[in-house]
Amino acid sequence: MKFELSPNNRGLSDEELLSDVNKVAKELGKESVTLEEYNERGLVHSTTLTRRFGSWFKVLSLAGLKKSRSLLNIPDEELFKNLEEVWAKLGKQPSYTDMQRPLSEYSAGTYDNRFGSWRKALEKFVDFINDEGQFSSDVTPENNVDEITTRHKTKRSINWRLRFLVMRRDNFKCKICGISPAADPKIILHVDHIKAWANGGETVMENLQTLCSKCNIGKSDL
Ligand SMILES: [Zn+2]
Repeated sequence: MKFELSPNNRGLSDEELLSDVNKVAKELGKESVTLEEYNERGLVHSTTLTRRFGSWFKVLSLAGLKKSRSLLNIPDEELFKNLEEVWAKLGKQPSYTDMQRPLSEYSAGTYDNRFGSWRKALEKFVDFINDEGQFSSDVTPENNVDEITTRHKTKRSINWRLRFLVMRRDNFKCKICGISPAADPKIILHVDHIKAWANGGETVMENLQTLCSKCNIGKSDL
């Protein structure tokens, strides 16, 4: 046998790694294992396997397991939305290690697996957000006969991509007190209509601002 060094080897052979995935499946009594499940119970981090074998689905198929349907079914947009939520909670670009529970619904490995690498996932996310930027100020008439809503050009609800654009413009800081989750993780940011929607304010970048919960409540008391 040829002696080879691999940077992600960690001393385990292919067979040992694959049988460890099977072991986790057995422990769980399941025919498939998700990245998250493996990270919790496996000998190594799932990235050791995805880097060795190419993808998590390949790992599962080599281990003779079923591809986990739950992961296959997650649309890209769902992964981006989760990334946006983590980004907003942190007030800054998430790192690979930030992407875990309870902060993130999906692990960084899930993003690796879908997009090729964490960096590529971030790039795709930025592209996705920037696409929104092109039509976020578009007029979307509310399909509603209600008199109040027909006076509006936009919907009241702020979609998550627009919310991200507003927070990014405001540097993930409250426009009133300047606080950011990057400085204090307990801070939760909201995006708020400057001119209330009920008073004819539209859901467009210019009429939206980032506020912390405290200032947001303070504002509605006025
Ligand atoms: Zn504030």
